[in-house]
Amino acid sequence: GVVVGVLAVQGDVREHIATIESLGGRAVPVRRASELAGVDGLIIPGGESTTMDKLTRTFGLADPVRERIAGGMPVYGSCAGMIMLSDVLADPSADRLGNPQQTLGGLDMVVRRNAFGRQRESFEADLAFGGLATTGDARGTDPVRAVFIRAPWVEKVGDGVEVLAQVPAAETPQPGPTPDGDGAGADLEPVARIVAVRSGNLLATSFHPEITGERRVHELFIRMIRGEA
Ligand code: GLN
Repeated sequence: GVVVGVLAVQGDVREHIATIESLGGRAVPVRRASELAGVDGLIIPGGESTTMDKLTRTFGLADPVRERIAGGMPVYGSCAGMIMLSDVLADPSADRLGNPQQTLGGLDMVVRRNAFGRQRESFEADLAFGGLATTGDARGTDPVRAVFIRAPWVEKVGDGVEVLAQVPAAETPQPGPTPDGDGAGADLEPVARIVAVRSGNLLATSFHPEITGERRVHELFIRMIRGEA
């Protein structure tokens, strides 16, 4: 069977481990580079991307993960994990010395953190999600219940990046006034927002399937690891 690592420096590690195990996969926390060697794929959980960035570098994990990504290891990032997988951030945070937040990268896209704005720190939506259907599986086209918590959206994707899910314009919460610069501004027309993408072996969602009992995204990821999707 496949061994799925969950990057375990910060964030909702246990929920991802439980979801993988409920699907019959083996899931192990990854805190150091040596633990990375034994995994077939890696999940980067939701949490706080600035903290995750600092800790992955402190623990000497950032470069080894980048090398595995370059080598084709399948990686799934949810929420903060999506931010970590993005090549470019629209609004990187900076530490006290002014050093910008870094990502691991791999997905050719621009992600905006905390994009849905402060007035609606969290919201839920039912989304059409591409690529979940397996042969003979009637649930494949059922909508995915998506929970967004201070979630990013994908602002721009490169050529090789496939959009799997969007929040329709009518359901996109409008950001309120954002004195601290969070969110995209109050005067924008509502437009559909990209919240799930795939490029090759990399998968990312703005939302958290691991906290709703939704298992099909993790199922898709396991199929990607097995080379079946
Ligand atoms: N806003 C968080 C960040 O910037 C992500 C939130 C989440 O993972 N739920 O990292």
